[in-house]
Amino acid sequence: MIVHWQDIKGHSQIADSLKIMVAEDRLPHAMLFSGMAGVGKFLMGMAFASALLCEKKDGPCRHCPSCMALQNNVHPDFFVLEPEGKTVQMIKIEQIRQLQKEISLSAYLADKRVVLIRNADRMNENAANCLLKTLEEPVGNIFFILTADNEKKILPTVLSRCMKIYFSPLSDTLISDIMADQNIKRDKSEALAKLAGGSAEQALALYENGGMENRLAAFDFLKTIFSFTDEDIWTLADKLAASGREKFGEWLLYLQLFWRDMAALDGDAECMKLYNNDMKAELMQVKADWGITAVFAACKYVQEMQRRLLTNADVRLIAEKFIIDLRYLK
Ligand SMILES: [Zn+2]
Repeated sequence: MIVHWQDIKGHSQIADSLKIMVAEDRLPHAMLFSGMAGVGKFLMGMAFASALLCEKKDGPCRHCPSCMALQNNVHPDFFVLEPEGKTVQMIKIEQIRQLQKEISLSAYLADKRVVLIRNADRMNENAANCLLKTLEEPVGNIFFILTADNEKKILPTVLSRCMKIYFSPLSDTLISDIMADQNIKRDKSEALAKLAGGSAEQALALYENGGMENRLAAFDFLKTIFSFTDEDIWTLADKLAASGREKFGEWLLYLQLFWRDMAALDGDAECMKLYNNDMKAELMQVKADWGITAVFAACKYVQEMQRRLLTNADVRLIAEKFIIDLRYLK
């Protein structure tokens, strides 16, 4: 796939400085694009790689042999590494070793090679140390672009080799525009953009998974949890586990946004931007039932559950513990 600068929404200052680097051929050996998930770091990495590999200084031109090869996903000097795995996705040491084998040969088409590593923060220490060797002793004209949602999870020794560029969250308007480009109606895209917290990927995922309906289901849970019987707890935990890790994660996200809004409503609500602004009156009501202490406790629980969901812990057990903890907040 070839990505042109024009295909990227937002981050125009970053794109401008990358274009200058390509034009002036002043390139750091390794770069890290960091920032929250779903704001376009990988897409920018693809655009940067496309421009770097193109024969023209102001590329990608879409016509030279390099651009054609990239378009057809057969560029021999371009490498993409992504996390792999069924439950927990990680970049494995075998992937790094394979990459090292391939880049030890000289470049074929372009005068340089580009390696794009997606979610470099999902690399265990062994894999990271293995990559470090290549970063420390690069062979030939080779450029590394790493992306990471959480740069704190990257080995400091790897981090220190990279020039860092921070990607800020996208504005609601920009996310709504991106969704409109995919023929999603404005009324839906605007509401979902508010819930997505600056991530276009999140907004699109919410849309694809019936976002508005799931939000209402989460809200119903908030209204009824304190009168849950033991049987209600088991039934819901079963249902959540059956829905799968991703869907459960979304349900947690909706709850988190409701609690954040409730916490905000407890402060100076007029100045606060609410995620669920369209449900403000109902939220005030539920907040009164909950009490602010329980809301803050729930905010902590949900973060803990989101962390556990990233491990290979059993979804059924996570769901069960979460519901029980909430049930006994009152
Ligand atoms: Zn080209």
